[in-house]
Amino acid sequence: MKIAFLTSECTPLAKAGGLADVSASLPKALKKAGIDIVIFMPLYRHVKKNATWIEDTGEKLKIWIKGEPIITSIKKTENNGVTVYLIENDEFFDRDYLYSTPYGDYSDNAHRFAFFTTASMEAMKVLGYRPNVIHVNDWETALAPVYLCTKYNQDNFFVKTGTLLTIHNLAYQGVFSKETLPEIGLDYSIFHIGGLEFYGNINFLKGGIIFSDFVNTVSPTYAEEIKTERFGYGLEGVLRVKGERLIGILNGIDYDEWDPQKDKRIYANYSIENLSQKNINKLKLMEELGLEDGENRILAGVVSRLAEQKGLDLIYSVAGDMVKSGISLVILGMGEKRYEDMCMELERIYPRRVKTIIGFDEILSAKIYAGSDVFLMPSRYEPCGLGQMIALRYGAVPIVRKTGGLKDTISEFDRTTGEGNGFVFEEFTPLEFLSAIKRSIDIYMEKSLWLKLVKNCMQCDFSWDTSAKKYIEVYERIMKEKEEVK
Ligand code: ADP
Repeated sequence: MKIAFLTSECTPLAKAGGLADVSASLPKALKKAGIDIVIFMPLYRHVKKNATWIEDTGEKLKIWIKGEPIITSIKKTENNGVTVYLIENDEFFDRDYLYSTPYGDYSDNAHRFAFFTTASMEAMKVLGYRPNVIHVNDWETALAPVYLCTKYNQDNFFVKTGTLLTIHNLAYQGVFSKETLPEIGLDYSIFHIGGLEFYGNINFLKGGIIFSDFVNTVSPTYAEEIKTERFGYGLEGVLRVKGERLIGILNGIDYDEWDPQKDKRIYANYSIENLSQKNINKLKLMEELGLEDGENRILAGVVSRLAEQKGLDLIYSVAGDMVKSGISLVILGMGEKRYEDMCMELERIYPRRVKTIIGFDEILSAKIYAGSDVFLMPSRYEPCGLGQMIALRYGAVPIVRKTGGLKDTISEFDRTTGEGNGFVFEEFTPLEFLSAIKRSIDIYMEKSLWLKLVKNCMQCDFSWDTSAKKYIEVYERIMKEKEEVK
């Protein structure tokens, strides 16, 4: 079975969020399970910096965007033993950021990712890689199923190729003006309610949902939530139509990469057997960040994109109470300016108790997972969430809102049964969030209970083994259907 995995980010080559982790760890797990898989991604400036080697395949392509031919070459590298084909175009991809600056999205995102998707499909042809399934991820690559059903409809090369769209976050859909259509290789015949039309504009993700053979999201709860008006962002109708062709498959994390016993980024390695070493991580981190009195305070960590989704306003509302109750806070994140300012303000109001680092820093993120007692994810919605899974692995107890993948992975600790792996609140209010935080403080004060809870966290298994099998089942089904039709 041959799978072409199209993605707009992949750890450690270029990362903005969880999609990058999944694009690295899922193909790795699939390859380990015997699947022939290759990745296609843009050759961003970040990739040039982060890849240990890049070589030219010698293949060149001519892609038409905005009526102009763009000549591009296909480069290649490897990630976790999986071949990664890199689509080069410096005008589109040699930039400071992947999608947007703190002030907003790049204005040519439609053209950038339509170009990338088309070039990836053309690259499959010149490289002779004929996939059984093109697995696309989020709006950036969602046009591949659309192209397959339109301009490649009569193309023999793709005659047995099916498609799977994974939605990592429904809030980002790729909505652009309809005038973009002819500029990206599509015509107006597709501009109707059963096609790409979306309130007078075009919507890449909608196209992907309608034209793909199968859709999945990254947790079972989120797969249900997105069929409702509250979480569907206008696409709940088309998602409902998908019926049993829409499922939830929980993400995993790479247990080799995130391993407190081996992680070279943290101050001291530890396991469930020698948790005293975890405390060294806390004390050293607090010292490095200028957070005082580490011995006597609880350390709460946040590692997050700074976006509305993540509930930073809730953190802002309860920060004063947290600090008073003996909690110090470290926030690592970047994103929207208003949230960056909000987090920086917390540091100014509570010096030596709150530390905010604006930026993207994987080394510091590992130190925060290892050094924190609790990890905060009060998200408005959360398709899956990897932060809480990484936190569990490092024994930082998650405090989360009961939504999406957070609901599927974290359950409230019960002091009588000793079961549970975190603290969960339901309503998106400071009061409920604070109450969950207070429950965590109560347990923290009883050392044996806390130890039990930390061990519960570290014993959870959110590695890819189970979920990779579910992806293979979907691939097999798509492949079988294609064989039957032709
Ligand atoms: P999302 O995909 O919505 O951003 P996830 O929880 O699924 O959220 O994944 C976030 C991933 O990105 C985690 O691996 C987290 O550690 C990482 N991350 C987020 N922000 C930063 C940052 N500023 N520096 C380093 N890593 C970050």
